Amino acid sequence: MNREQELRDNLQLAQERIEKACVAAGRAPQEVTLVAITKTFPVSDVAALAALGVVDVGENREQELKVKAPEHPELTWHFVGQLQSKKARSVVRHASVVHSVDRLSLVGALSKAAVAEEKTLRCLLQVSLASYGPDGAATGADRGGVAPADVPELAAEVAAADGLELAGVMAVAPLGSEPDKAFAGLQEVAARLRSEHAAATWISAGMSGDLEAAIRHGATHVRLGRALLGTRPSLG
Ligand SMILES: *Cc1c(COP(=O)(O)O)cnc(C)c1O
Repeated sequence: MNREQELRDNLQLAQERIEKACVAAGRAPQEVTLVAITKTFPVSDVAALAALGVVDVGENREQELKVKAPEHPELTWHFVGQLQSKKARSVVRHASVVHSVDRLSLVGALSKAAVAEEKTLRCLLQVSLASYGPDGAATGADRGGVAPADVPELAAEVAAADGLELAGVMAVAPLGSEPDKAFAGLQEVAARLRSEHAAATWISAGMSGDLEAAIRHGATHVRLGRALLGTRPSLG
């Protein structure tokens, strides 16, 4: 089977999973946006997904983003990885959404970059769900992000920054936990955020292994890598 056919079949299966999960949750499938996470895969796969109608594509490393995004300026590029302040300018140049705003010190760098690039950057606050995991952060279940208690301060900073638009929250479920419990926690964090910032409506949650649980708990964006592209080559 050629790669185009494989991607077509995978995309169809993923869309069916999303639809089924939405129906089961009493939600409309149009409420959920699929973001294809193409990290480690060649730009030819991005082209193939784009030809199949995918418009939202994400990367987790600046080095890959800056190579792939210029080849497909027609797509909406999302940055979902750990972000160093010194890479902010490059990420802002190539992406229109950053899912991983996780600390106050990053906000100034992103704002400065957005102003310099003359664009408005959509920002999601990456929330740590470690406290909903097996033993909290102590087990190494923490997969990054700001603690729920620190969300209001970070949100206020983003909302007040030039060039940034506070769009919502993002999270990765802790390893070895029930994703439902973690995503229910995220949904509460998101609701509290919306009560202060009405436009912050996005919930980026759910990956290939747990998209159903995320959709049950209000995800508006699911980030799918393996389900679309297959097993990633090891980065060593
Ligand atoms: C790699 C990655 C994904 C996609 O994970 P899969 O399990 O391959 O679907 C989603 N979110 C982030 C932040 C990632 O780094």
